[in-house]
Amino acid sequence: MSERKVALVTGANKGIGYEIAAGLGALGWRVGVGARDDGRRAAAVQRLRAAGIDAFGVPLDVTEDVGVSAAARLIERQEGRLDVLVNNAAISGAMPQQPTEVDLATVRAVLETNVLGVIRVTNAMLPLLRRSASPRIVNMSSSVGSLARQSGPEPDRTAGPVAMAYAPSKTFLNAVTLQYARELSGTDVLVNAACPGYVATDLNGFRGVRTPAQGAAIAVELATLPDGGPTGRFFDDAGPVPW
Ligand code: NAP
Repeated sequence: MSERKVALVTGANKGIGYEIAAGLGALGWRVGVGARDDGRRAAAVQRLRAAGIDAFGVPLDVTEDVGVSAAARLIERQEGRLDVLVNNAAISGAMPQQPTEVDLATVRAVLETNVLGVIRVTNAMLPLLRRSASPRIVNMSSSVGSLARQSGPEPDRTAGPVAMAYAPSKTFLNAVTLQYARELSGTDVLVNAACPGYVATDLNGFRGVRTPAQGAAIAVELATLPDGGPTGRFFDDAGPVPW
């Protein structure tokens, strides 16, 4: 079994996920680069290794039952356990997403990746996480999923465009995070949601204002929480985010 801490980051071939892998790797951890495309995964692993990071590839499409089970078996065989799971992979879905016009296929596809994908991967990895002394699960959410931020008399101008599939998928993910935290309370597993801020990535056509490394920082922080740290909470760099 690996002496080093072992993490798995889903959707780690680019964007914020890549930087989360780089950030955990910089702590001396062994990092599984979860990615669905063979070429993009290999390129990311190679780039991380060139930067001195102990990275390994994990073929992983979060929408596929069989592939997710295979990913868990690969980590079990190679590492024997998992210390941290970062559920980062997500899609925004086809735009525009006006509620009155949205294509239900778009809503389904976004929920399949952003919500069911997280449940699928988390349940597959939990047996390996339970073998860790300090297991942590970080779900990459977004403040666009915060009902508190989206409601009230004044619309939140920072909440981005109306997005009938993407924004509710993050609200659902927040609720899922709480359900895991409730079931796992009293265990060593800490489960939290993170908002990276508005980051320039493919997800938003690089319109974000923060760098992927800045967006990754909160996930690295929640992945390295001390024992007895918070669970069932939602944070960004500035502190707690309202649900
Ligand atoms: P990104 O650059 O588009 O990266 C998304 C990653 O998810 C890619 O690696 C993508 O892989 C992967 N992915 C998508 N579907 C997948 C699937 N079915 N199986 C496995 N991997 C899959 O987006 P990002 O901005 O870095 O987003 C990372 C996380 O931060 C997401 O959860 C997002 O919702 C959240 N977030 C982002 C922002 C922002 O401003 N960017 C704000 C709030 C929250 P491929 O390369 O194969 O497509």
